Amino acid sequence: MTMNNIDIKRNVLLNPGPATTTDTVKMAQVVPDICPREKEFAGLMKGLRDDLLKVVHAPADQYTSVLFCGSGTINIDICINSLVPEGKKILVVNNGAYNTRAVEVCQMYHIPCIDLKSSVFEQPDLNQVEQTLKDNPDVAVVYCCHHETGTGVLNPIREIGALAHKYGAIFISDTTSSLGMIPLDVVKDNVDFCMASAQKGLMAMSGLSFIIGRTDIIKASKNYPTRSYYCNLYLQYEYFEKTGEMHFTPPVQTIYATIQALKEYFEEGEEAKFARHRAVFKAIKEGVASLGLKEAIRDDIQSGLVVSVLYPDNPKWDFVKVHDYCYERGFTIYPGKISTTNTFRLCALGTITPDDIKDFIPVLKEAIARLG
Ligand SMILES: *Cc1c(COP(=O)(O)O)cnc(C)c1O
Repeated sequence: MTMNNIDIKRNVLLNPGPATTTDTVKMAQVVPDICPREKEFAGLMKGLRDDLLKVVHAPADQYTSVLFCGSGTINIDICINSLVPEGKKILVVNNGAYNTRAVEVCQMYHIPCIDLKSSVFEQPDLNQVEQTLKDNPDVAVVYCCHHETGTGVLNPIREIGALAHKYGAIFISDTTSSLGMIPLDVVKDNVDFCMASAQKGLMAMSGLSFIIGRTDIIKASKNYPTRSYYCNLYLQYEYFEKTGEMHFTPPVQTIYATIQALKEYFEEGEEAKFARHRAVFKAIKEGVASLGLKEAIRDDIQSGLVVSVLYPDNPKWDFVKVHDYCYERGFTIYPGKISTTNTFRLCALGTITPDDIKDFIPVLKEAIARLG
């Protein structure tokens, strides 16, 4: 049976993940049934783990990647519950919804946490980060999201990581919405742990998430308090090292899709892919401006992946109606994540190109015109 010629409708997803995928990635999931405890499958995961290190330029003698079955939030949960030593604190540099999620994880596990909150419209203030580290020598972990997907603000993780290291802490960055799209070099960027799920930058399917981090720190964490049975970084790492397998059932078909997606990632190339996402982002910004819509975030701190559009100042504005009109025509737009300001988001993830945006803007224009 050949599956290559199946005609699958192509939707342009302008939501912040899952992203539009290639047909070859979709079809990679259609494989003979296999028990994931077979050696053949462990071999596939070994190659996948090695390739993930290459995406973030992580030297294999210092870093490892650990796979988990779950959506991206599982990584936040695992990193936080596994990497804070007894009696120590975590500092969350918090300028948005995804950093707030990390604070909530700390609260759930009763882990002492400093929530260094700042404006969602700005990058964090590095002086404040440094002062907080000076004042709190018991901070063992600094945490900050790279790209705050809720607003599209890009955070200065290299600088925050350097401050963490200066004060003897490790640095964890949630790179879920930047990894594989914005070039990241974990050594140069001072990142001890980063993370993502397969359905965003890698343009594969949801269900597989992974943490890339320093092997020596994972090994040291063996002696840290264990706060979860299913979601423990050291236990999963150890199981991979001993058996080559996930401790519990992996998302089998998603792993096949991710292997294909990584092949396509390396074929497209880090720089070319970055340039393509940038070109889509630019097309979105130009299109939005041409319709007279305004953005919530100033240009110089944007990630180049998410455009946060302010709701127009029009009593007839109705996001759901605009969404539905676009959705029926194959374009998915997405609500914002800023509690104080009404926005919607248009994102440049996935396999889309500036031509897709050229097709989309007239549809958005028509959707808005229909509101009256
Ligand atoms: C998407 C995303 C996540 C994970 O969200 P899930 O819905 O659990 O996949 C985490 N952090 C950031 C920054 C994200 O953009």
